[in-house]
Amino acid sequence: MSTILLKQISFNSQIKDVLIEGNKIAEIADNIAVQADIVIDGKDRQLLPGFINMHTHASMTLVRGVEEDCPLQEWLEQIWKIESNMDEEMIYWGAKLAILEMFQSGTTSFLDMYWMVPQVMQAVEEMGIRANLSYVFLTHSDQAKAERQKRECMELYRASRNWCDRCDFSVAIHADYTVDEKTMIWASNFAKEHGLLLNTHIAETQAETQTDITNRGMSPVKYYDSLGILDENTVAAHCVWLSDEDVEILGKRKVNVVHNINSNLKLSSGYKFKYSELKAAGANICLGTDGAASSNNLDILETMKTSSLLQKAWRGDPKALPIDELMDLSSLNGANALNINAGKIEKGALADLIIVDTRSAAFVPNVDFEADLIFAANSSCIDSVICDGVLVMEHRRVKGEDEILDNVNRLAEKLLRTSK
Ligand SMILES: [Zn+2]
Repeated sequence: MSTILLKQISFNSQIKDVLIEGNKIAEIADNIAVQADIVIDGKDRQLLPGFINMHTHASMTLVRGVEEDCPLQEWLEQIWKIESNMDEEMIYWGAKLAILEMFQSGTTSFLDMYWMVPQVMQAVEEMGIRANLSYVFLTHSDQAKAERQKRECMELYRASRNWCDRCDFSVAIHADYTVDEKTMIWASNFAKEHGLLLNTHIAETQAETQTDITNRGMSPVKYYDSLGILDENTVAAHCVWLSDEDVEILGKRKVNVVHNINSNLKLSSGYKFKYSELKAAGANICLGTDGAASSNNLDILETMKTSSLLQKAWRGDPKALPIDELMDLSSLNGANALNINAGKIEKGALADLIIVDTRSAAFVPNVDFEADLIFAANSSCIDSVICDGVLVMEHRRVKGEDEILDNVNRLAEKLLRTSK
């Protein structure tokens, strides 16, 4: 079993030795005297649980910067047109670039919703990150497509039982405006039957929400609830446009709600995310970036800062979304949603950890580490990343980085050329 010993490293306002054995934190003590395979000096370093990005479309790194200054509907149509030309090689390298970027910004787990799941899984397996990959239903009203997708979903579920331990499978309903009702119910039942997460987009834009109210006589949240979909295994991205009743439903059903502030701002979808109301109602709130085509990066630290600033600004309340809660949103709440024993530095927890270099201007004077991290620093302060007990980024170097950059540049150029 491989071992990593972190010597005299700061975390939770203390300085300790932390021993990692295999993929878990084995011991935390004032002094651990063992011969470890790797020893890391904790001087000028802070240890944190790795961030958990609860809403990504990883391979969209290929279309970063392709559609700028564009409203959601127009943006979606353009992106869908380009995505229809993506092949397996593109999905694989796009996912690798996303994982590289996630390591460099301190993310150790992500929940993904995209096409060609086996290629994304291969990238996850090779790079050493932890992921939950959703097979996504997107049928519109095409029943032949729905039947084909159900078969693919079942096949993939069967195959997923042979995936590595770091990689889980889930089911996604793209949204209630892109999937027919019968398929939504089928996907939800399939997820419940097999104990899988059900991942979806809900109430991202005002127009989408208003259309449901006009056409179905109820909001998107009420519609999902009327179909019996919502529960503690549901992950609902966005939830920007919610009535008080919607908030109550999401809370009562203990839904995992993912706030993707940068994507929502960029596509002008809205920013009055009802964080404190959702929390009080009982929802589990997490953070996500969305795909790199809308949020441009996959940086949870940046998401933390923007989320906090926006809550404080639109509510006119500097106490809104305080730092300690923001830290939980970035990690522990995501771990709870994914049913993994991570998001904390405790004996027995998964060794999914990041090491922050505090020897820089942003961390001086050393008064409040978390405030410095969120409001003064940026993710270049993340020096090293341990995922599943393996040092996957050391002093900002990730294995295979140049190969990933070269391949994505080559494939993105090809994709855009063929999509013209
Ligand atoms: Zn999304």
